Amino acid sequence: MIEDAAGAIDSETGITVHWLSVALDVPLAGLFDYRADRAVPIGARVIVPFGHRKLIGVVVDTPETPAFDAAQIKAIDQILDDLPPLPSDWIRLAGFAAQYYQRPLGEVMLPALPAGLRKVTAYQGKRSAGGPVQRLDKRKAPALPLIAADQTPVLNAQQADAVQVINALDGHKTLLLHGVTGSGKTEVYLHAAQAVLARGQQVLFMVPEINLTPQLEQSLRARLAALAGANALAVLHSGLAEGERLRAWLSVQRGQAQVLLGTRLSIFTPMPKLGLIIVDEEHDASYKQQDGLRYSARDLAVWRAHDRQVPVILGSATPSLESWYHAERGHYLKLSLAHRARAVELPVVRLVDTRRLVLQQGFSPQLIDAIQERLDQGQQALIFLNRRGYAPVLNCASCGWVSQCPRCSAYTVLHRGSGRRHRLQCHHCGYQVQAPHACPDCGDQDLRPMGRGTQRVEEHLAELFPQARIARIDADSTRLKGSAAALFAKVHAGEYDLLVGTQMVAKGHDFVNLGLVGVLNADAMLFAQDFRAPERLFSQLMQVAGRAGRHVKGGEVIIQTDYPDQPVYQSLVRHDYAGFAQYSLAERESIGLPPCAFQALLTAEARELKLALDFLAQARVWLQEQIGDGGAALTLYDPVPLRVVRVANIERAQLLVESLHRPTLQVFLAQWSAALPELAAKARVRYQLEVDPLEI
Ligand code: ADP
Ligand code: ZN
Ligand code: ZN
Repeated sequence: MIEDAAGAIDSETGITVHWLSVALDVPLAGLFDYRADRAVPIGARVIVPFGHRKLIGVVVDTPETPAFDAAQIKAIDQILDDLPPLPSDWIRLAGFAAQYYQRPLGEVMLPALPAGLRKVTAYQGKRSAGGPVQRLDKRKAPALPLIAADQTPVLNAQQADAVQVINALDGHKTLLLHGVTGSGKTEVYLHAAQAVLARGQQVLFMVPEINLTPQLEQSLRARLAALAGANALAVLHSGLAEGERLRAWLSVQRGQAQVLLGTRLSIFTPMPKLGLIIVDEEHDASYKQQDGLRYSARDLAVWRAHDRQVPVILGSATPSLESWYHAERGHYLKLSLAHRARAVELPVVRLVDTRRLVLQQGFSPQLIDAIQERLDQGQQALIFLNRRGYAPVLNCASCGWVSQCPRCSAYTVLHRGSGRRHRLQCHHCGYQVQAPHACPDCGDQDLRPMGRGTQRVEEHLAELFPQARIARIDADSTRLKGSAAALFAKVHAGEYDLLVGTQMVAKGHDFVNLGLVGVLNADAMLFAQDFRAPERLFSQLMQVAGRAGRHVKGGEVIIQTDYPDQPVYQSLVRHDYAGFAQYSLAERESIGLPPCAFQALLTAEARELKLALDFLAQARVWLQEQIGDGGAALTLYDPVPLRVVRVANIERAQLLVESLHRPTLQVFLAQWSAALPELAAKARVRYQLEVDPLEI
């Protein structure tokens, strides 16, 4: 083999050979070597033979010599030149994610591309590359609905200060925009975006979920379209059809779209002129991907902004304790919007101590009176309850039978169907059955729903306030496509007086006539096992409280609780996020929990719990041996069954690993993740390794 600048010349055939390292979406670590008869740029997509299949891969290196026996290396089938090569910063981002989250590079890269660019079937039978893409290009992009942008308000002093700081930045900075609900964070984002667009750069604007808040999306669309021109806005989320997604992706990748508004998956879109990243509601768990590559789009946004040397704005009324901690230590720059933008005060938060009260269908007299008062004033009231269905379990009063899922270690939830038929439904595996008329064990007919979900609360409200028009907003009432938007439109149009809803109503909605928010059953989250439960409860209640009195004066929030002294509730009464964060961080620091420590979670799944636990025990021993005497650097907990141990007849257990030092954890995780496939194969279990798990 003789090397030359253009490649290596095969001494037998005299043909120039180019070696390629290719990332493929297969569950094997490492890259795959191929040969090509002409130079292929890094970032190009190629079709290659793999076993009996053909796959699309991404060229990530062009080594001078192959890693193993050149004679064994197969030639690529085709270079796909319908796209310019994927840019080097995109490859770096995927590389970082692969390394940090301990996944093969190909399993990061390929799923990050729209399906049409990574499915070999889209290209088969075509000699000339890129026929799917060109065809799509010819189709006209659907015009965005033209909505008149709201009048752009004049920035108030606190907003103007924040915008000034952001616009004066040169290079990278992570900004934490902490603004109380209704403080006008959106205006700050838009002004910052405007300055970036004026420089001809692109903006990545991430939101937790798009379909949940059609109103927010519409006004954002309208404002962004006004800034950038209707064609300069692209929207990406998982609800799009393949073709729509590809079109949006291409327009951003080509620099035609200047603004990308999207959910977590949009973090992996190539943006040649990226100038700013915005992560709205940065604390939201939706930024965490919960299967496959379990990445945090928020964290990747910070990494990407640093890599591209551009600013990133993390905005929230209740920042994650991770981000707050960084800001407190000066790693992030904190910007505060302490007051509401409009001339309305934050709602008054009242705790109703339910320990000594006689409740009427779950409602305290105080809450009933407060609702009646709002109805009398012609205002709306919202009852928040994070539990859908009619009742969480059905119970036999005679023998104690409870409704249980045959496939999971969980109760089945009673749902009221249309007509008089009730169903029992498992919220873990989807199992459904007609609710029995009599107890399956003793035959008694005295079956009672225990506890209450949104359907039952809706029923109670109808009894308590027979004149009121009531809307229930949860995953069940909005199952059909477009129905959530339609329901919210009616709410905004004043066609309902009372709303009952789950967290779906908590986020982002700007209710114009809502004066009161009542919270039922918040205590359920107070003593959950997960150490993040109080943080989640605080942010959820703060968000839902923020729906009250956004436009009407005298907004009020009533939280019914048996534990009014809990710090979470006391901080809420004072609207004191900072106090809550300080208290929680001190607690986390004292027991060594994130963000003061770093975690990884190994979860095993098997037909029998023992198999899963045995595998975790072996994995633990393996890691313990690697660590050796330097054991203090890492804490290995004992393998434990999950709280809901069996789901769809699969038993699950987990093992938590923790370190005070992130790089140390990373080093050991890399070794561990290389050893786990073999251990798991022997133990016949499936497993996932999750870095920075959000739920434990
Ligand atoms: P946040 O996202 O911080 O909860 P929003 O961005 O939704 O708050 O703003 C709350 C409301 O205040 C919106 O109706 C918005 O149009 C309005 N608003 C924002 N900035 C101003 C301003 N400077 N003057 C008047 N109204 C404003
Ligand atoms: Zn019974
Ligand atoms: Zn089930």
